[in-house]
Formats: sequence, structure tokens, C-alpha cells
Amino acid sequence: MADSQTYRYVVLGCGNAAGYAAREFVACGAGPGEVALVGDEATLPYERPALSKAFLTNPSVRLPGFHTCVGGGGERQNQDWYDEKGIATLTGSRVVGVDFLAKELALESGAKVVASDALILATGADPIRLDKMPGGTLSNVLYLRNNADGLVMAEKLQSSIGKDVLVVGGGYIGMEVAAAAATVGCKVTMVFPEEHIMPRLFTPAIAERYEKIFTDLGVTMLNKGRVCKEFLDDGSGAVRGARICKDSQEEEVVASLVIVGVGARAATGLFSALEGDGKGGIVVDASMKTSVDGVYAVGDIATFPLKMYGGRPARVEHVGHARSSAAHAVRTICGEEPGEYDYLPFFYSRFASASWKFYGDNAGETVVIGDFAPKLAAFWVDAGKVVGVFCEKPEDDDDAVMKKIAIEKPSMTTEKISAAGSVDAAFALFR
Ligand code: NAD
Repeated sequence: MADSQTYRYVVLGCGNAAGYAAREFVACGAGPGEVALVGDEATLPYERPALSKAFLTNPSVRLPGFHTCVGGGGERQNQDWYDEKGIATLTGSRVVGVDFLAKELALESGAKVVASDALILATGADPIRLDKMPGGTLSNVLYLRNNADGLVMAEKLQSSIGKDVLVVGGGYIGMEVAAAAATVGCKVTMVFPEEHIMPRLFTPAIAERYEKIFTDLGVTMLNKGRVCKEFLDDGSGAVRGARICKDSQEEEVVASLVIVGVGARAATGLFSALEGDGKGGIVVDASMKTSVDGVYAVGDIATFPLKMYGGRPARVEHVGHARSSAAHAVRTICGEEPGEYDYLPFFYSRFASASWKFYGDNAGETVVIGDFAPKLAAFWVDAGKVVGVFCEKPEDDDDAVMKKIAIEKPSMTTEKISAAGSVDAAFALFR
């Protein structure tokens, strides 16, 4: 590559959002040579959620099978696709500095990449690491964020069949990876301090149902105040277990493999010159534009106004937002005037026999209806309005009514939802 290369549009990051930005640039008529993606992963953009799901249990789920935009109903954008469209893919390129006024990226290699019209920042998030905890840098203490991490983890899980694996964290990674590890035949223990799994969304009644899936898989849960204080060395620099504490009590857990999923941080270390939200996010307006003209931020790093909640600032770590915010920024950049970004918060997870979806806001009182057989749902009612809805394995028409509820926020009491008696009858109240 020449020392300095200029493109009309440059995307910093080659993750999920970048793949969807590329698709949208093509849809908006960007020509050959106008767009470049620059990112440090060795791979072209792919659907990251696959990594914590089938990827870990099924060796046939591998790239190039899940390059973007297959998850969003689009083409599989492999190298031929980018070449045909004339989009430069500078993968394996670490950016070490950004001059925002010049919209210029400085690469570790010494090369520069300049955006003449617009720069989109799409660097995603990095896992929070426990490196500073005693034993935190021992080998076989793993994190999951990218394809390379996933390949190592899948292989280590196979070689840990019948052995003890410790999963630290009870959120998305914790649940999905613990289920995958148990499914392949590892003896799994989960440790996290909260009262129940998925504390950021589940209520105790919802968690109880999902925790049963884990106990049925033979997973041991160490939670309710228990924290991991130290990873123990087997004498050769590899982990042999962990020291878990609750108040003044201590216990040792055996594990030859540890997987840590204790949250993520927006990858914004290079962006201190932009207006931030004070919590690691980059503030953007309703077109995903940052405080500098011509510079946009999308996906996990963007703190944007949530239109459906009166412009409340939100930073959302979710693939749905990565895809739609990237497309929105590109439409704005290409002069399509897409209006204000109007995102419907949506979360989902799949593990073992479970597959749930949630739309809206988890504020207020919750009412849980039914059970896995035949159907489980939950409704969040805040100030007399239904603001959030959850369902295990929603069918297509359930999905449609869930979106309608989250968007329209209909008036309803928890008593009336409860009295409906079944999930179908409860959804019928809103159709
Ligand atoms: P998370 O926030 O979902 O969960 C973190 C969990 O770790 C929480 O239970 C928290 O209490 C616990 N925890 C925090 N510190 C701890 C400690 N010292 N010891 C033990 N437990 C501790 O984060 P995650 O699961 O790490 O996921 C990271 C990112 O990956 C997020 O951006 C998430 O959205 C994304 N992700 C999403 C999906 C999905 O949408 N289905 C799946 C996988 C990953």
C-alpha cells in the first residue's frame, strides 16, 4: 500500500457494523474505489453473535459461512464481493492514531488512510479483562470477542471434554458459553456475584426457569455474593482452578480451563478528541454524527438519542443496533435524508434448548405468564403502560405483536395481563 491513500468514505473497524455499512454504501450508489474498511482483525466482517453459539459446538460453523450480511438477510460478503464492488478491505491493519479534522488514520505500519468526505468509527467493544486479579494472566484463562478467540475456545472445549471448566460471569457470554461447554461434555461451574443469571434483564421468576436449563445440563452455579478472587497456578503457568469468596468464606474450585465474560467496554481509546458521554461512549446526534463534522460513530461505541424514549441517551451493545446504526449513518452521508435514527431496543439469546427475545424497556413492574411448555412470556408495565415484552421461542405473529407493544406502549394493568391466563390470551389483548 502507498504511504497515504485517500478514499471518499472510510470505516474504522472491520466488524459487524462495517459489513452493514459496506452493504449500504453499495445500495446508495458508492462507486469502485470510494469506500475502504480498515480494521485490525484478520477477517472480513462477520456476524459476531455466531461465535458464542453454534460456533463452539459445531466445527462446520466457520468462516466464510457467516460473513455479513447473512444474518440480516443479505448476501454473504466474501472477498470476491468486496472486490466486485471496488471496496478496499484493509484487514489486519491496526490504527494507532486518528486526526479527526483531517479525517486521517495513522496505521501501525506507518501508512495513512484519509477520508475525503466521511469517516465512520465502528470499533465495537473490548472484553473487560481480569488481568490484574492474582493469576489473571495464567494460560487457559480465555475471553471471547473475535473469530481468533472463538477458534481457540472451540478447540480448548473439545480438549476439556469430561474435565472441569469454570465460566466467570452470568450474562450473555456466561450463559451462552456455559451452555455450549456443557453441551460438548465439559463439567461446568459458573461463578457470578448476583442473585441470578442475566441480572441486567431477567427478573428472579424468569431467571428461575432458565437456571433450570443449566442445572439439567449438569452446570453448578456459584452465585449470590460469591466472587472469584484468584486464579490458581498449576505450577507451569496454566490455570488449575480458582479461589471463590463470599464474605469471610473461601472455597477452591478446580478448573483446567476458565472462560471470562464479565462485560465489555466501548473501544474508544483513540477517540478522546471527540465529545464523550463520560462513560466511554462517543456522543452522536440522531444521524450518528459525532461532535466533528464528517465523523460518525456507530454500533457499540455510539451514545445516541433513543427517539422512542424522548431522546434519552443510550449506548447499546447489540448486533441489531450495529447493523441499523451503520446503515443509518451511511444513508445520511450519501444524502438520503433518512430522518432521525429511530431504534427499537431488542435483545435475544440462544443456548441449549433456549431461544428468547426481548423488545423495549425493562422498567417498572413485571408480570410473568406461563412456562416453557407451552409458552413463557413476560411484560414490563411502567406508569400504567406496557413498555417491554419478553418471550421464549416467539412465533412470527408473537414477534409482530411484541414489536407493536414495545413501539406503541399501550395502557394496561399487570392484573389484566395476569388474568389473561395464557401467553396467547395475553398477546391477544394487544393485537
Ligand atoms: P454482560 O454484561 O452480559 O454480563 C457480565 C456478567 O458478569 C454479569 O453477570 C456481571 O454481574 C458479571 N460479573 C461482572 N464482574 C464479575 C466478576 N468479577 N466476577 C464474576 N462475574 C462478574 O457481559 P458479557 O456476557 O461479558 O458480554 C459482553 C458483550 O458481548 C456484551 O456487549 C454483550 O452484549 C455481547 N454479547 C451479546 C450476546 C447476545 O446478544 N446474545 C451474546 C454474547 C455476547
